[in-house]
Amino acid sequence: MKEFPGTTGLIFNEPLLWEKGKKGRLGFSTPRRDVASSDLAQEFIGDGPDFPDLSEVDVIRHYTRLSQWNFAVDSGMYPLGSCTMKYNPKTNERQASRPGFAAAHPMLPPNLSQGILKLMYDLEHFLVEITGLDAASLQPAAGAHGELTGMLLFYAYHQSKGAPRSKIIVPDTAHGTNPASAALCGYKPVAIKSNAAGILAPEDVAALMDEETSGIMVTNPNTLGLFEENIKKITDIVHAKGGLVYGDGANMNAIMGIADMGEIGIDVLHLNLHKTFSTPHGGGGPGSGPVCVLKHLEPFLPVPRVTQKNGQYLLKEDFPDTIGRLHAFNGNVGVLIRAYSYILSMGGQFLKKASQLAVLNANYIKEQLKETFHLAYDRPCMHECVFSDQLQQAHKVTTLDLVKRLMDYGFHPPTIYFPLVVPGAIMIEPTETESKEDIDLFIDSLKAIAKEAEENPDLLHEAPKNCHRRRLDETTAARKPCLTG
Ligand SMILES: *Cc1c(COP(=O)(O)O)cnc(C)c1O
Repeated sequence: MKEFPGTTGLIFNEPLLWEKGKKGRLGFSTPRRDVASSDLAQEFIGDGPDFPDLSEVDVIRHYTRLSQWNFAVDSGMYPLGSCTMKYNPKTNERQASRPGFAAAHPMLPPNLSQGILKLMYDLEHFLVEITGLDAASLQPAAGAHGELTGMLLFYAYHQSKGAPRSKIIVPDTAHGTNPASAALCGYKPVAIKSNAAGILAPEDVAALMDEETSGIMVTNPNTLGLFEENIKKITDIVHAKGGLVYGDGANMNAIMGIADMGEIGIDVLHLNLHKTFSTPHGGGGPGSGPVCVLKHLEPFLPVPRVTQKNGQYLLKEDFPDTIGRLHAFNGNVGVLIRAYSYILSMGGQFLKKASQLAVLNANYIKEQLKETFHLAYDRPCMHECVFSDQLQQAHKVTTLDLVKRLMDYGFHPPTIYFPLVVPGAIMIEPTETESKEDIDLFIDSLKAIAKEAEENPDLLHEAPKNCHRRRLDETTAARKPCLTG
């Protein structure tokens, strides 16, 4: 019998601190007072806020127990498709917390910030080399912010040609942020369907592309985990009508050192440093979504830009065609430091290896599970593979039931019900950092769950059973959200 990582032992309950406190209990002792007491505190603060009285051990246990209810990449496999939840080496954290970086103030003048400016300058060049484009800006603070930057660049480019355009083509498999970013910039997103093979067909792009269309947003590999094989033809079609191609590079983890985005006709590409380049992002941030561009879009890049002159690094604002500033200061600099450290410690050779292993792991899972679960597109995948609950529906078991049960086995659920083109989607991205042993345990868990679905579907309807919290009432939560805490 395999030992799955899920277990119920020694998970503690923990009440709110207010329920735990006891009047008069103290977490610290101060030296004996050697001056007369005064009423000032009472006068200014009154009785103070309603904080509970707690001992040191009460507080330590409270937060330690809460931290143990959490699931993290540091505690187990987190195969959340489209998110690249890979293990982030601790050395990158250590570099980001070096006092020289961590304590630097963004308002220090450049001559006192040479270290961090050099790091930013070099990082831009690394990203340019990895993507095959010509110039970069580290300003955008997330992938979606990079998309918005890209759309502003599109707009500025067409404006400079004297003809701002109004529409943008976005595939039906795209991340929801793509049409949202386009719309935020004033463009009308026009949806394009992927074909029976799960990718874009050049003739469909040709049918939609016209001179009112600013360009296309393409995620490659796409959110079905498939490489857009017709990308070169598609970029040629868009360029022939004077349009531009935006590359959503959130899935760069599959193609580092393998695909040259400039060569295949991408004009602007964003990267998610927090996905591909070693920043933990389970809690939602902070992130970084640099954009890389080809030469003809460089004049429009946001300011300030890091430049170098006579060995001195400067922040330069003076670019007449710039789209302007995206926010205060220089983005989430800690994320930039982790990416820099990660890229240097891996080197070109091992970045490429990381992508190869990420793709190998996803294909291994796809092959091992394709008899057990319906595979949406049965062809070689990139860094993630997409199944559905089609075979389990006969037992009235849904994707939600399957992945809730997976938590009992000790794994974070994959992404579910996305992309929308696959009903009941289960989107698995193992990443390169999981060992074969852990991937095999994950596969065995899903096989065991599929068997349970046939033999005892009620068990799955009630899952999770072993976790700290049981199945939540999602309908009521959506209809009557508790917004006051
Ligand atoms: C994650 C992701 C985004 C958005 O990135 P954020 O950093 O979350 O804003 C965009 N597109 C794809 C394909 C993604 O996976």
